[in-house]
Amino acid sequence: MTRTEKCRGISVTVSFEDIRQTKTKCARVVSVPERRHRGGASVGEHTCVDAAHRCGACAEAMAAVRSSAVVVGGGFVGLSCAIHLQRLGKHVILMEAGPSVGGLHSCSSGNAGTFAFYANVPTQRPGLWREAPGMILSTKGALRVAFGSHLTKMVPWCLGALASCAPSEVRKTALALGTLLRHAEAGYNDAWEHCGIDIDGEMGIYAPNKATACDAFAARRGYLLLQKDVHNQNSQSAAALRREGWSGGSLKMEALDQSGVRGLEPHLSYDVTKGGAWWFEDGWFLKNPRSLLRAMRDGFVAKGGEIRCGDFGRVESVAHGTTVGSVRLTMRDGTNTETNTAVIAAGAHSANLAKQCGDHLPLDTERGYSVQWSSCVPETETEKTSPPALTRPVCSSEGGFIVSPMAGGVRAAGLVELGGIELGPVSKRFTQLDLATRALFDPDAFAFGERDTQNDWLGFRPTLPDALPVIGKSSKFENVLYAFGHQHIGWTLGGITGRVVAAMAVGKNPGVDLDPFSPKRFASKAWWRLFASL
Ligand SMILES: Cc1cc2nc3c(=O)[nH]c(=O)nc-3n(C[C@H](O)[C@H](O)[C@H](O)COP(=O)(O)OP(=O)(O)OC[C@H]3O[C@@H](n4cnc5c(N)ncnc54)[C@H](O)[C@@H]3O)c2cc1C
Repeated sequence: MTRTEKCRGISVTVSFEDIRQTKTKCARVVSVPERRHRGGASVGEHTCVDAAHRCGACAEAMAAVRSSAVVVGGGFVGLSCAIHLQRLGKHVILMEAGPSVGGLHSCSSGNAGTFAFYANVPTQRPGLWREAPGMILSTKGALRVAFGSHLTKMVPWCLGALASCAPSEVRKTALALGTLLRHAEAGYNDAWEHCGIDIDGEMGIYAPNKATACDAFAARRGYLLLQKDVHNQNSQSAAALRREGWSGGSLKMEALDQSGVRGLEPHLSYDVTKGGAWWFEDGWFLKNPRSLLRAMRDGFVAKGGEIRCGDFGRVESVAHGTTVGSVRLTMRDGTNTETNTAVIAAGAHSANLAKQCGDHLPLDTERGYSVQWSSCVPETETEKTSPPALTRPVCSSEGGFIVSPMAGGVRAAGLVELGGIELGPVSKRFTQLDLATRALFDPDAFAFGERDTQNDWLGFRPTLPDALPVIGKSSKFENVLYAFGHQHIGWTLGGITGRVVAAMAVGKNPGVDLDPFSPKRFASKAWWRLFASL
């Protein structure tokens, strides 16, 4: 148990365990992550700089700062960083601005759940600039706009995204993402093992309802990517780039014609399957992303990790700490935490923190939506023996969304809407997703039950114009690391990002070429240099 106290004008959090240890020889507060003592100012302001004169409590506190790490953001990326840092021996505090880790405020919770290891080809693609106006104007378009003052601020981002549609840039992005995606599942395995999670085991208490408690976290049933024409030039060249990103033959990916697609998903309509699909036999998805987030959270805490939420966990500023090499994070409630490893993994909200750390970056958001239907429980014998309405995630490339048979109901998730993180959802988008999902199926085969509007959801994908995440060191603070900007595939890339970041934090070889993900890569871009001040 903890409580916050004022001590010489400074808010400090004291746990009851700490109070028992408060017989400190030093008349100052030692405000460090693991242990806070009453009686003075934070460890950084301490006068015991000379080891010979350092009191035991302060020496211990300084050592604690050195062995601690603070991760900002409790989505899949932040949680994975926290768990991997913990595996490497750090005492980790996870700061989360929302009321809890695994809540709907995080982009990691309401998404389509597909483990998209094949998704190295970005949505920024050659010719997008020609298609974009039509998509924005159509009520069925995959690209939409939410009008508001933020749009003027997005000018540089949009210019950068258009510049990234050049074939050479698309290829660069696809190859770089491939280097991470090839290790995506391996990147999680150690973290899950550390937390005692069997991804193919039952969700149990983490399931969204009792009826699905026996469902596994992961459902390994493949993935279908519907195409206008699987044999046309665009589809074939994107497929070639996927394979190249995966270093050739190891990616299992097969072109299916209509009968192949309907053989797998018999309820898809004749019209939408005409062009065939790409079939990823090894594809898999989460039956409920929130369930896994919560299981990872609990595994992290069980291993000694600390979590702070709400104003107590919302990091407002980052500044130099008072001991060499440390940084001080200040929360909204005024408390400070010093550490010498901080990871900024606040998703679409990371730009302001990165700016304080010396890096002005064109991070923005691609807003995305999801809707969900509560599943019908089969009642009659015919219903019980007929094939399920949907077995695996199906992506409509044209509509820009994925329909996944989640635990507790089918979910449709997708669309890209420009408009920033301040505006609330545009309700028409939920209707658009609803109608577009129904249009994928034979009308009499749409057996997903009632749409559960309580589950209507808007999420903020963190996206840089070149569709590559930022993974690297801050320009100003040696010990601040970045892990954000994972656009449409942040759940998939969380594990490998966490593994790489933790390795960097302890001076180990990250095992991946991080140049393409450098925060410095925008400095030379004309569209950013000219418009960054907007
Ligand atoms: C509709 C939709 C469908 C998607 N489908 C898929 C999919 O099928 N597969 C896939 O891999 N990806 C998918 N994604 C993308 C994926 O959800 C995101 O890329 C991913 O969730 C980003 O994770 P994150 O941890 O970086 O950010 P988040 O999950 O947003 O986590 C960041 C956290 O930081 C917290 N925070 C913000 N500011 C602060 C602060 N100052 N201090 C402390 N905490 C702070 C936030 O509250 C938040 O919880 C989808 C996204 C959408 C919108």
